Amino acid sequence: MAFGIVFSLDYEIHGNGAGSPMELMVEPTWRLLRQLERFGGKLTIFAEAMEILRFREHFRATGRDDFAYEAIAEQLRYAITHGHDVQLHIHPSYANAILENGRWKQDWREYDTARLPPSRIRAVLAEAAGVLDEILKPVQPDYAMYAFRAGNWAMMPTRNIADALIDRGILLDSSVFKGGMRDNVAKFDYSGAHSALLPWRADRDNINVVDPSSPLWEYPIYCEMRSIWAFVSLNRFYRVFQTRTNRLGDEDAPPTEPGVPRPGKLARLAATFFGKHAWKADFNQCSGPQLIAALKRAKSTYGAQSGLLPFVMIGHSKTYGRYNEATLERFLTFATSRATEYRFAVYRDFLHDLQAFA
Ligand SMILES: [Zn+2]
Repeated sequence: MAFGIVFSLDYEIHGNGAGSPMELMVEPTWRLLRQLERFGGKLTIFAEAMEILRFREHFRATGRDDFAYEAIAEQLRYAITHGHDVQLHIHPSYANAILENGRWKQDWREYDTARLPPSRIRAVLAEAAGVLDEILKPVQPDYAMYAFRAGNWAMMPTRNIADALIDRGILLDSSVFKGGMRDNVAKFDYSGAHSALLPWRADRDNINVVDPSSPLWEYPIYCEMRSIWAFVSLNRFYRVFQTRTNRLGDEDAPPTEPGVPRPGKLARLAATFFGKHAWKADFNQCSGPQLIAALKRAKSTYGAQSGLLPFVMIGHSKTYGRYNEATLERFLTFATSRATEYRFAVYRDFLHDLQAFA
């Protein structure tokens, strides 16, 4: 048994369409790549293709590369030719986005890919896949897009999005985190997910469930149900200060659905402090020691399984700060000091083991 540690990075600007791609995507991702490379680590960049497409259009229409399209393309080309991976992430609300006062005003009617009409899902997927192919194929002619992460992790209802992915040959999803639940602008319930760590062939009608005949694999983001106190880290603390001005403000927020009853304030407080919450292995939000402890717990829970097991972590380039860099160093040092148990991987490293595409 060994674990393949996957650093999966959501590569995008702020959710409200604000922020500089150079500062939030390109610059931190170069630092992260350099840091991982010192340890032989590999990065999987889930590039949000719809916003990259808007950045490119803006550049071509105005002649001004205000959104760093060329630097983004250069970075993605570097990654794919240096042992890292670039795969597909989509926020469909950027499909109709317009630039207003330097910020991308999105179409909140198209917030959740899984809930779009089937023909619209296919159109968005084709457009998004096209832009990454155009960037990467000139330097990597056999570039294969095979993995997907849904915007806001929303893969329910599963049927239409699963069918569209399978038809494009994208046979691996990595959006689910066991225990995760949303019931607002995105809606999903991953409490019944098959596993917090082991991949499964996912039922086209319900991503949580195993269907041995399905061509679509789910590689879940490693997650544990923890009390609120497990979430405390300096990285998160810094992040609150960094991003408080970029949260979805009222004007920018997608509309919430009316008629969803909300629990009382006291009940919500009690649930926050005494309930369990889905704690993702987030290498930008958790400290090095927290990640090391999670890796050890994963080993004691799943270590009896044979083969190479994925330990999928998630991060966001926009939250990768200097403090984060220092504490992540401890995790990387730990993992490389136990090379027989842990190695660094991209998703395709597991496929051979599982013969997923046989
Ligand atoms: Zn995203």
